[in-house]
Order: sequence, then C-alpha cells, then structure tokens
Amino acid sequence: MHIIIKSPGEIEDMKEAGRLSAMVLREVGKRCVPGVSTLELDQFAEDFIRRHGGIPAFKGYGGFPGSICASVNDEIVHGIPSKKKILKKGDIISIDTGATVNGWVGDNAWTYPVGSISPEKKKLLEVTERCMWNAIKAARPGNRLGDIGHAVESIARSNSYGVVRELTGHGIGRDMHEDPSVSNVGMPHTGKKLQPGMVLAIEPMVNVGTRKIRFGKDGWLISTADGKPSAHFEKTVAITKDGPMILTCEPGYDRPVG
Ligand code: MG
Repeated sequence: MHIIIKSPGEIEDMKEAGRLSAMVLREVGKRCVPGVSTLELDQFAEDFIRRHGGIPAFKGYGGFPGSICASVNDEIVHGIPSKKKILKKGDIISIDTGATVNGWVGDNAWTYPVGSISPEKKKLLEVTERCMWNAIKAARPGNRLGDIGHAVESIARSNSYGVVRELTGHGIGRDMHEDPSVSNVGMPHTGKKLQPGMVLAIEPMVNVGTRKIRFGKDGWLISTADGKPSAHFEKTVAITKDGPMILTCEPGYDRPVG
C-alpha cells in the first residue's frame, strides 16, 4: 500500500476538480426527472464538464464508455448510460460524476429520487446519506481507516440494511483510484492511521436487503443480488490537521461537518 500524501497547496489545487465534480453532479441531479434517459444525462454531463475546462474523469477509464455512472433502483454502481434506460416516477438513481482539472481528479455521487418515491426508498436515501456524513466526520487525524468503515456500518446495521463489501471508497489525487481502499465496514481503532494530507473518496453503498451483489453482463454494472434497492453517496474529502475538508463542494452548498 502506497498512500500519496498531498501538501496543503496540492489540496488547494484539488478543490477546483472537486468544485466542478460537485457542480456537474448537482446539475445532473436536477435533470433526473421522469422521461429522461440516462444517456441524455451523460451527454449533458460531458458537455458541462468540458465547457467548464475539465475532462470527464470516468470516460475511457478502464474502458468505461460514459462520463457518468447512472445506477437505477437495484443497481448499485457503474451503470452505463443508455438511451434505453428511461427514468420513471418512483425510481431512485445514483449519479456518480468525476472531473479532472489541471491533472487533479474529483469524484462524488448522490442518489436522487425521481418524482415521489416509496417510504422504503426514502428511508434508504436518508440513512445512506447519514452513513456518509458520519464517515466523513470520522476522517480526522488520530482515527484509523476502521473508524470510517465502522461509521458507515454501525448506522446501516442499526437499520438492518446490507453494506456492500466488494466495492469501497479509495484514495484519490492525480489518479482517480489510489491507495488506500476505504471499506464501508470496519472495527473502531483498527487499520491504517489517518493523517493530514490523505485525500479519500468516501462512498457508502447501502442496500435495503442483502449485502450480496451480482455482476451485469456488460462487465460493469453491479446490482443487488435480491433485486432490492440500493443507494450510494460519495464525497472527496481531504484529511487536514483540523479535521475533514470536503473538496467536492460548491461555496454555499455543502453543510459543515464535525
Ligand atoms: Mg469513487
């Protein structure tokens, strides 16, 4: 494991990629309405990122064809945008966006309701978002990686939800995926010590039912094994001596942490 520590100046530089990743996420989120295809969302996102001086970080990554991942209902992550995938009222959709600016990468995700959704899905979104905030709060010097996993797992488990284990958060910097991997399960006070200059993409993936997953035929899509809904929230977070600093945010849009 080789964790690349970023200087305060480099963290400042990463904010630009973070800001654009957050802007495009919010703009795509607004467009998650009934009748829209996930390919239309993708095309909007790619255009938006390029118009603002960035490069879609996902496009071509490992051969991924889209600029966003769009994962609906029981789809957990890595949904390939498609003109055949049309959103309908009652769906939930995880949108994952990443932008590269000046060689630095930002990565974030949010699960949006499409119109009004069932109480089951509403609760899933609320709880998974809370898992993410709790994990971000744990991203501070003195804590360990296991504290982040535990922050997610403890809330999810108290709601009898399944926490996906095969996929994790990750270090991020000039590469989208750096060490360490950031599990969404863990024991308190275990694992690598967190220290200032680490930058992590923290991204709980939480299922209403089983934590077990299945792989799609396209080699990308990952869905719940039982077909029940899943949610996914993600932010890029720098660990500073004063605590967590969210990099994928726009001024005035993010709530304070800690
Ligand atoms: Mg990520």
